[in-house]
Amino acid sequence: MGKTDVILIGAGIMSATLGTLLKELAPEWKMSIFEKLDAPGKESSNEWNNAGTGHSALCELNYTPEKADGTIDIRKAVAVNEKFQLSRQFWSYLVTRNRIRHPQDFIQPIPHMSFVEGEENVLFLKKRFAALSQHPLFQGMQFSDDPKKLKEWMPLVMDGRIADPPVAATRIESGTDVNFGALTRILFAQLQEREQVTVHDMHQVENIMRVDDNSWRVRVRNLKTGECEDHEAPFVFIGGGGGSLPLLQKTGLPESRHIGGFPVSGLFMVCHNPEVVCKHHAKVYGKAKIGAPPMSVPHLDTRDIDGKQSLLFGPFAGFSPKFLKTGSYFDLIRSVNANNVLTMLAAGVKQRKLTKYLIQQLMLSNEKRMEALRAFIPNAKNEDWSVRVAGQRVQVIKDTDIGGKGTLQFGTEVVSSADGSLAALLGASPGASTAVFVMLDVLTRCFPDQMKLWQGKIKQMIPSYGIQLADDPVLADKIQTETAQTLKLKK
Ligand SMILES: Cc1cc2nc3c(=O)[nH]c(=O)nc-3n(C[C@H](O)[C@H](O)[C@H](O)COP(=O)(O)OP(=O)(O)OC[C@H]3O[C@@H](n4cnc5c(N)ncnc54)[C@H](O)[C@@H]3O)c2cc1C
Repeated sequence: MGKTDVILIGAGIMSATLGTLLKELAPEWKMSIFEKLDAPGKESSNEWNNAGTGHSALCELNYTPEKADGTIDIRKAVAVNEKFQLSRQFWSYLVTRNRIRHPQDFIQPIPHMSFVEGEENVLFLKKRFAALSQHPLFQGMQFSDDPKKLKEWMPLVMDGRIADPPVAATRIESGTDVNFGALTRILFAQLQEREQVTVHDMHQVENIMRVDDNSWRVRVRNLKTGECEDHEAPFVFIGGGGGSLPLLQKTGLPESRHIGGFPVSGLFMVCHNPEVVCKHHAKVYGKAKIGAPPMSVPHLDTRDIDGKQSLLFGPFAGFSPKFLKTGSYFDLIRSVNANNVLTMLAAGVKQRKLTKYLIQQLMLSNEKRMEALRAFIPNAKNEDWSVRVAGQRVQVIKDTDIGGKGTLQFGTEVVSSADGSLAALLGASPGASTAVFVMLDVLTRCFPDQMKLWQGKIKQMIPSYGIQLADDPVLADKIQTETAQTLKLKK
C-alpha cells in the first residue's frame, strides 16, 4: 500500500499544472501521479490532438455574441482573456525560476485574426472591433476591409478570391501558438526532478474508494505486469481528460450523480508543403455555421511543432463513443447508469440539432472537407492536404436551473466533493489555455485553509491573482509587457 499526500490521475496539462502549482506551494508534500499511457501528454494535450491556440478571445468570434439591440457583448471575451493572462504569468514565473528553460520550446508569437464574409458579418466584425480595441486587454487590434491590406495580412486566404461578397478581418500581433504537448512534457520532466514526486507511467486507475479516515484508496493496475496495487491519499485529483467522468462516477460522491458525458471527436486537415506553408503566418478564425456547436468554429492556423511549421484547418466534428482517443467503444454506454439515465435521455431529445450536425459532419467526404477549406483558401489543392484525427472532447451533460434536465455544457467544469478531498475536471473548452485558472479554482475549493497561507506565494507567481486586469489598465500593461519579454512573445 502506497501512502502519499496527493494523488493525481492522468498526465495531461491539467495534472501537470496542478502538480507544479502544488510543488511550488507545498514542496514537502508527497505526490503520486498515475498515467495509463507510456508517457505524459499523449491524449488531448498532445500537440497534434488540439489546435494549440492560446485562447484569449483575440480572434474567436463565439466569445463576443451580438445582443438583440445590435451591440456586442464582450464580457465572455474579457473573462477568457483574463484567464489566459494567469497562464502567461505562471509560465513566466516558471521561466524565471529555470523550471522551464526555453519558452520557445512550447510557445510562439503568432498573429490572431478573425475573418468574415458578407455584409452582415463585416458589420458585426466592425462593431466587435470598436467594442474591443479600446479595452486594455485587446490593445493593438487592427481592422481592415481593404482587399489590398487583407492580402498583405493573409495572402493564402485572399489569393483567388473574387470581390463579392465583401470580406473583412481583424488582426492582433499578441496572439500565441502553444504546444500544450511540449508544455506537459516539460512540466512533468521538472516535476520528476523534484523530491517526493513519483510519476507512474503505464498505470491505469481502475477504482476510487473512500477509506475510514476520509482518505481515498485508489486501485491501480500496473499495465506492464498486469498486477493491481492500492494507493491512499487525503486528496485526489481526477485529471483523466475524457476518462475523468467514469472515474468520478466510481467515487459514489453525490456530486457525481446526474452528470453524463457526450463525446465529440475531431479531425483536422494538415498541410506540410513548405511552398504553401510559407504563404501563411497567422491563426485565422471564421464564424461557425448557424446551428453548429461553438467548438466547430473553422480556423486556419500556422502551427510550430518541433521547429517545423505546418498549416492546420478545421476542426471537423464527428461522433465516436470513445471518451479518449485511446479509449473503448463501450465508454459512452458504460457511463450511463441509474442516476444519470434521465439526464442523458433528456439531452438526447434536446440535442437533435447537434446530433444532426454531427451526423452531417461524419458523412463528409474528403472532397466536401476540401470545399470547406476552399472557403478559407480558394486555391487549395487536394494533394497538399491530408486528414489528421484530433483528440476527443467529452462535453458535460447535466441538469441546470437555466437549461433544465439534460443540458449540454460546452465549458470546462470542476466537480469537487463537499469536504474538498477530491476534485475532477470535466469538459473541454477553452481548455488547456485556462489550465492555471482552473487549477487555482481546484486549490480554492479543496484547500481553503492552506490557501490563506499560500496567498503571498501565489501573488509572487501570478501578480494579477485576485485582481481584474480589465479594471487596472496600468497593471494590465505591465503584466503583458513583462510576460511578453520573458516568454519571447509580442505584446
Ligand atoms: C480537437 C481539439 C482542439 C482543441 N484545441 C484547443 C486549443 O486550441 N486551445 C486550448 O487551449 N485547448 C484546446 N483543446 C482542449 C485541450 O486539448 C484540453 O482541454 C486539454 O488538453 C485537456 O487536458 P487534460 O489534462 O484534462 O486531459 P488529457 O490531455 O486528455 O490528459 C488526460 C490523461 O489522463 C490519462 N487517463 C485517463 N484515464 C485514466 C485512468 N483511468 N488511469 C490513468 N490515466 C488515465 C490519459 O491517458 C491522459 O494522458 C482542444 C481539444 C480538442 C479535442
